[in-house]
This record gives sequence, structure tokens and C-alpha cells, in this order.
Amino acid sequence: MASTLLGRFLRYVQIDTMSNSQLAGSVRPSTSGQEELMMLLRSELEELGCSTYYGPESVLQGRLAGNMTGESIAFMAHVDTADDVPGNGVKPVVHSPYNGQDIALSGITISTEENPDLIRYKDGTVVTSDGTTLLGSDDKAGIAIIMEMLSILASDPSISHPDIEVYFTPDEETGHSLDRFPYEHMNASVCYTVDGTEEGIIDIGCFNASSASVRIRGRAVHPGSAKGVMRNALQAAAFIAQALPGGERAESSSGEEGFFAVMSMSGTAESAELFVIMRDFHSDGLQRRENILKAIVNSADLIYGTETECVIEQNYSNFAGTVASHPYAMERLRRAADSIGLAISENMVRGGTDGAHLASHGIASPDIFTGGHNLHSLSEWIALESMERSLELVLAIAKGDA
Ligand SMILES: [Zn+2]
Repeated sequence: MASTLLGRFLRYVQIDTMSNSQLAGSVRPSTSGQEELMMLLRSELEELGCSTYYGPESVLQGRLAGNMTGESIAFMAHVDTADDVPGNGVKPVVHSPYNGQDIALSGITISTEENPDLIRYKDGTVVTSDGTTLLGSDDKAGIAIIMEMLSILASDPSISHPDIEVYFTPDEETGHSLDRFPYEHMNASVCYTVDGTEEGIIDIGCFNASSASVRIRGRAVHPGSAKGVMRNALQAAAFIAQALPGGERAESSSGEEGFFAVMSMSGTAESAELFVIMRDFHSDGLQRRENILKAIVNSADLIYGTETECVIEQNYSNFAGTVASHPYAMERLRRAADSIGLAISENMVRGGTDGAHLASHGIASPDIFTGGHNLHSLSEWIALESMERSLELVLAIAKGDA
């Protein structure tokens, strides 16, 4: 089981699927490698005896017919990788048996001091990139785990299971994965995403998220004759960024605290723009942040004489409520974890997941760990043992006696 899982993972990470955040939203998928991987997965699914669907949504669906009655169970992973660091041309390096020491790669070192979890996998198998790219365990590990689960179920008819649906989505890292989704082809009301982090962690909720595009109109004149005439949009932008509560910024919040973060800021005296994101686990908390931002923007206009437009967009919502309203989703998962002797920890993720989008369609989507660490970075690593634990868990969830 271990060797085929590792083999699959190494194969998938070498396919270039870095998404393009500039194009996503207009071109889908935003990069051709994503479709290449989906077509490979489609032929692998069909070889396993699954029926497949790939339509205008650019989401690949596979279905393994069940050999018992019962509601379909769905699993999901995304084919794209992040573009925070180079993500194409991945050359995976397998450290086996891992010696428990710092891992030196081209130009970087993954130290045990900064990665105390590494020690857990001494004498096991750890996979990294060569240090020049990310590894792509986010979310090729999820894909490999789901495909391996299907392969095991398909090859052993003595395992009873209901219909299993799997979904592979594009452009998750750009926030566009579920812009379109074949909901009318979905029978399941619970869809486990396999896109998490450390071994044992199950995400049962996420932030509520909104973002604000703030466009400031000022008036530029020659600085020598600016008195009483210039309305400096940049000063207003700086004021807005600075006035966001210091204790509630991304860099000063953790755990279940929400935050404001200025993600970009640019302009001239004539006009300036800021892009601010807001996050909160509670919807009234998010509303409060939006009200604070609007009040700060109004103050900037009063002080600097600028005219500002502040357009707030809702990005995603905490899916904890939908998971709680389908108690079966977590009961099945907890029973499955018990059956394989796995201790799980239920967590609220400080980000969003595909589950947040599915929740708005009434589908419960707890997110299962893959074992990936330092995601979206050159120092990304994953232990095969944690991928195997995740595989055991999804298999136990899929089995009829779960
Ligand atoms: Zn991911």
C-alpha cells in the first residue's frame, strides 16, 4: 500500500499545475497543466472501473458504484498548486529512511528546530522538493490518497461500500475552484475534502471572509502651490492602513481571533488604492470589522478632502454550521478514526477551504489532514507515514461498516 501511494504522489507532483491568479476567474482552468492532470486522473479512474464526468465546469468527477445501499459519500481534492514560490518543474526528493537530522536542499535547510514534527518521522520516509520549488503536497497528497483509496476498493470486492463520488477541482489556490461546480451530478450531502495539514487534524470550520477594494480620489497639483488645493490620496491611503486597529492585524492575531490585513496599496496624490482583507470566525465579528473599515474611510475623506469608494465583497463563510447540521458527517469520521486507532483533533482553520463554498449549497465538508507541512514554500515537506494514516482514515470512512 505504501509503495503505490508514494509512487502515485511522486508521479502527480511532477506534473506542472501551478495556477495563475491573474487569469483565474476568466480562464478556467487558469493553466493547461491542470487539465493535463485531470485528464490523466480521468483515464486512471476509468481503468479502475469508475464512471467519469468532465464538463464545462472543468471539475473532474469520478464515481465508483457501491456494492451496498446507503447514501453516496464524496471526497474532494484540488489539482492546482500555489504560486507563492516557483511551483513547476518539481523534482521530489525522497529521504528514506529519514535520519532525523536537518534536511539540506539546494539553497535552503529544513531544520528540526523549526520543524519539531520532523522528529516523529525519524526512520520513516520524508519527501521534499530539491529546494528550488514547492513540493505540491497541497494538494497532490490529497489526490494520491483519494486515488489510492479507490484503487483499493475497486480491487477488493469483499469490501462493502456505498457509491463513492470523487471530485478534482482546478484553481483552488486562486479562490476560484468552485466558481462552477456540477452540483446536479452530485448525490452526496457530505463531501470530505482531503486538503488539510498535520496528521490527525480535522478542520470542522473556517473563517468568514470578506475583502474591500478601497479607491481614493484626490487632487494632484504642483507641490509648490499645493496649499489648500492638493488632496493627497496617498496620505489618505496611509492613514487608512495605519488606523486599522494594531492589535487586530493578521500579524498580531492567532487561534480563534480574526483580523484585518492590507494586502496591497499603491497610488499617487491624484488617486490611490488599497486592498484589505477581513477575517472572523463569527459573522457578527466580520460585520464589526467591515463597519470599522467604513468608519476609517469616512474619517480619511473628512481629514484629507478625498472621495473614497469602498466596495466590500463577501468571499466565503464559516462552514462549521453546515457541518454541525449534518451530525452524520463527523459521527462517521469519528467512528472511522476510532476503528483505526487514530486520535484526531477537531480544529477551526485560519483560512478558507472548498468546504466553505460547498456549505453554501448545504453540503457538509470536514477537511481531512494529508500530513503536509510548510505549504506554499520551498521548505515544504510531507511524511509518507502521515499520508498512509490519511489513506487509512478515508478508507474507513468509505467502508460500509463505518
Ligand atoms: Zn490546498
